[in-house]
Amino acid sequence: MEAELLQPQSISPGTVKTEEEHRRDICAVGRWLHERAYVASNDGNISVRLDPRRILTSPTGISKGMMAPDDIVVTDLEGNRLTGRLSPSSELAMHLLIYRRRPDINAVCHAHPPTATGYAAAGLPLDRAILAELVVCLGSIPVARYGTPGTQELTQAIEPLVHNHDAILMANHGVVTYGPDLLTAFFRMETAEHFARVSLVTELLGKQVLLSGKDVEKLLAIRARCTPQPAATVANPGLITSDGDSERITLTRDQLEALIKEAVESDRLSRK
Ligand SMILES: [Zn+2]
Repeated sequence: MEAELLQPQSISPGTVKTEEEHRRDICAVGRWLHERAYVASNDGNISVRLDPRRILTSPTGISKGMMAPDDIVVTDLEGNRLTGRLSPSSELAMHLLIYRRRPDINAVCHAHPPTATGYAAAGLPLDRAILAELVVCLGSIPVARYGTPGTQELTQAIEPLVHNHDAILMANHGVVTYGPDLLTAFFRMETAEHFARVSLVTELLGKQVLLSGKDVEKLLAIRARCTPQPAATVANPGLITSDGDSERITLTRDQLEALIKEAVESDRLSRK
């Protein structure tokens, strides 16, 4: 069992784990971010909500591809170090903001994956409905205004977007993703970068065929059923569809519930 946990190739989903397992998971995700060139040098940071009062965070000033479980730091929700020899991540305030605003979130990843970060540096959101998978997994990925790394400016810049999104481009900086567990937070980073690459290819080809508003609504019903999460992140995907460049789908909670009911009913009938 111990040898298995040391393998960087696999970490289990979920949050019911020992502190030691969470430490190893953070090291594994650090290696994945580094291997995929989502971070360079000592960039990036990863954290996990250990319990209602404690956070496990990657330390500052160390490559995320070279961390050992003992390097991981424990802090309280104000960012004070409780245990650990190294200093906590310089972006810890951003992670703490996300934990405070989103009780459903238990893990945060911040990295600089080159293509998505390119969109962030160009001030371009990833918000065009061109891939069904992205609509189901993330909705749109907005750009937060620029804020100096490691300062309140950065935290204030992402704050208005945290409630409605699970992935955010940080202008002239990078990407932050989060989820109910660390594997989900990492996968959202991977999905964001993958989507950025596909978007870039469509731009190189000079053509994007957008999904229609109706198609997006159907995908949102799947999203609501498959990924339990706050209604706000599902109801406000902020995607641009083929029905008009400026059109944004915004469903009320009642509309969304009616849509889900309809989808569940048609699914039930089709199984008869
Ligand atoms: Zn950064």
